[in-house]
Amino acid sequence: MTVPRADAERRAESGFSGPLLQVDDLHVEFRTRDGVAHAVNGVSYSVDAGETLAVLGESGSGKSVSAQAIMGIIDSPPGFVTRGAIRFRGSDLLTLSDEQRRRIRGRRIAMIFQDALSALNPVYTVGFQLAEMFRVHEGLSRGAAKRRAIELMDRVRIPAARQRVHDYPHQFSGGMRQRIMIAMAIALGPDVLIADEPTTALDVTVQAQIMELLAELQRESEMGLILITHDLGVVADVADRIAVMYAGRIVEEASVHDLYARPAHPYSKGLLESIPRVDLKGSELAAIKGQPPNLLRVPSGCAFHPRCPYRREVCVTKEPPLFDVAPGRGSACHFWEEVLDGR
Ligand code: SF4
Repeated sequence: MTVPRADAERRAESGFSGPLLQVDDLHVEFRTRDGVAHAVNGVSYSVDAGETLAVLGESGSGKSVSAQAIMGIIDSPPGFVTRGAIRFRGSDLLTLSDEQRRRIRGRRIAMIFQDALSALNPVYTVGFQLAEMFRVHEGLSRGAAKRRAIELMDRVRIPAARQRVHDYPHQFSGGMRQRIMIAMAIALGPDVLIADEPTTALDVTVQAQIMELLAELQRESEMGLILITHDLGVVADVADRIAVMYAGRIVEEASVHDLYARPAHPYSKGLLESIPRVDLKGSELAAIKGQPPNLLRVPSGCAFHPRCPYRREVCVTKEPPLFDVAPGRGSACHFWEEVLDGR
């Protein structure tokens, strides 16, 4: 099946040579009764066609909020994008009209959510829900839209798609429902796919199958893929680059290879050390001590300092910028050289 693409639009944009999607100095805050939570605090990252960027962090790190800002689905109030730019093929989404943004969202930038069951409508068959997208967006007849729905279900490897197109969401397993969500997200041939914890609710074997499917679809259609996760183990085989987030900031950015081989931030190092390894069977699993910070009361200086084994006095008073470690690589740690050298 060929992925439908807005060819005319894309040709018109072919002169553009910058990153496909670029988030630049993004700030998002939530104004609550207890104070202002700075959920995303100066985050910048980009993804190109055919590239997979993993955005990694614990819950509350700002990774999902930054994705919601890209999609324009932050509940406002209480959430507000207060600064920054989100450029899709060079156009800042934050300055477009609602109508222009709506045309990009879903068609050009699509998102898969963690909880497939609540994202699907329980009273319609999955075939109807998939076909509806083709009827609404491409004006296909009922029969043609159903055929496209079946092709799409085949493409995401749902067995017996021709029969299962008549089933309801609750008649599918968790893994199959997530495949349906992926089918819906890629139906209109997006340029960028954002997958927010797409495998968290699934068991390990199904997780691997879904990641494999995403990687395959991404290769076939040259999409830019942003994979949001708290699990470093999940992204090792599929991501090209990783941006590690902590307390609303990127604390390390690197290629997957570099980050796995030699992390340059104590938080990334801690995350790596807490991945279970078969070759270390029987030994105690290292864990990062303490809890992620309350965003209403972020620690002074480096927000990671209360949990950091490398902490010194300066860490409590001075917030580290993202230091250049190497081309395309950064670490927001005053002592990144020590961490990198494994001292
Ligand atoms: Fe740890 Fe200090 Fe580096 Fe922060 S700046 S990660 S507290 S060593």
